[in-house]
Amino acid sequence: MHIPNRQSALEVLHQFLPNAGKKYALRRNYVSAQGKGANVSGLSPWIRTRLLHEWEIIEYVLHQHSASAASKFIDEVCWRTYWKGWLQLRPAVWEQYLTELNQMHEVSCNDTIYQATLAGQSGIECIDKWTQELQQTGYLHNHVRMWYASIWIHTLKLPWVLGADLFMQNLLDGDPASNTLSWRWVAGLHTKGKTYLARPDNIRKFTRGRFEVKESLATEAIIPKDLPRQPPRSLPNLDPLPDKKSRVGVLLQEDDVCALNWLITNQDEVEIHIAGYFSAEVYAENRIAPMVAQFRRESLESVLQLEHPLFKDFESVGNWVTTNQLDTVLMAEVPIGIWNTKIQGLKTMIEAHGAKLYMQRCPWDAHFHPLAKAGFFRFKQGIPAALDSVISPS
Ligand SMILES: Cc1cc2nc3c(=O)[nH]c(=O)nc-3n(C[C@H](O)[C@H](O)[C@H](O)COP(=O)(O)OP(=O)(O)OC[C@H]3O[C@@H](n4cnc5c(N)ncnc54)[C@H](O)[C@@H]3O)c2cc1C
Repeated sequence: MHIPNRQSALEVLHQFLPNAGKKYALRRNYVSAQGKGANVSGLSPWIRTRLLHEWEIIEYVLHQHSASAASKFIDEVCWRTYWKGWLQLRPAVWEQYLTELNQMHEVSCNDTIYQATLAGQSGIECIDKWTQELQQTGYLHNHVRMWYASIWIHTLKLPWVLGADLFMQNLLDGDPASNTLSWRWVAGLHTKGKTYLARPDNIRKFTRGRFEVKESLATEAIIPKDLPRQPPRSLPNLDPLPDKKSRVGVLLQEDDVCALNWLITNQDEVEIHIAGYFSAEVYAENRIAPMVAQFRRESLESVLQLEHPLFKDFESVGNWVTTNQLDTVLMAEVPIGIWNTKIQGLKTMIEAHGAKLYMQRCPWDAHFHPLAKAGFFRFKQGIPAALDSVISPS
């Protein structure tokens, strides 16, 4: 059960902390029955909205474990950062995914295997149980996600973009980077020659016999003929903050609801007005489940409490700028994903009301995203420096 506020996130984190060391490395691939003491943290929905920041999770972990004992868990937290940086450097990969998805939608309406799978009637028992679990809880264990994506692509022979879309619609942690890039990886589109094939014996072993796959699964992966060409890489340029600002607005959004912790370093300097922005429309346009939209909106509301307004359209943001005579609006950088294309409209609206919008990259992302140029192994070499400088600034 994921409750969208920081206190619940911290409680779950603290319960999990004793298991974040060697135990995690040994047990993380085993999938427990629903509600029976998980081997993983279950923190992803809170990390998605950054009700918990990656660096603070690692900091808590390092209070209880040495860096080497917790290295597997730290690596996994950093896999998220890696995928985010990778996509941030290559926005064309997300655009390509959206284009393919739009093309697929018309075809998929008449595809009987696709429709049956969505309805939990694919004929493969484990897939049908996991579809139901995904739709009911908004969460699946990582190993289940891998098996699911593999069977979807290589056994059911369904297009990977439709599977990625099903996950995005239903996962509470649904993330354009981690989700799209993981599906591409299973489909063999990410690393040349690498696909992921689910095997019945592996499923039996890691579910401790709860799933006995009787149906025949593909024994050979579908290998894409060519890898998509690597698009040019570059990080979006962000405007530097002005030296002088007097009336500052902080606009919190769903990708980093706790951005106030790092956006404002010296609160005494200026007068600060806080508000939030959340577009239910964007969620509806992307056919995202109401449960997911509600989790994201309530995460934001939990930070704003009743003290600060939450806006659902740009015009209301503009009016807030005028009413408070703001000259500067700060916001955490919006990552590539479901609403980053709307930012220009937000900027224009804020400017029309006499202020300027400055998106800011948090120190964690500023350190890591440029390192996501190649594979995770090279990226990971940046972890010790992050632990030194980002977590414990001198
Ligand atoms: C096909 C597929 C789709 C996925 N879609 C998403 C998604 O939309 N959003 C998402 O956050 N993760 C996604 N993942 C990654 C991973 O499955 C989830 O992050 C993880 O299952 C979350 O559970 P947890 O919090 O218990 O993880 P833990 O094992 O406790 O790990 C702690 C944190 O590390 C990060 N993490 C762990 N494993 C991964 C990984 N393989 N890749 C990236 N980050 C990781 C997550 O933020 C997670 O909360 C996907 C994986 C696959 C194979």
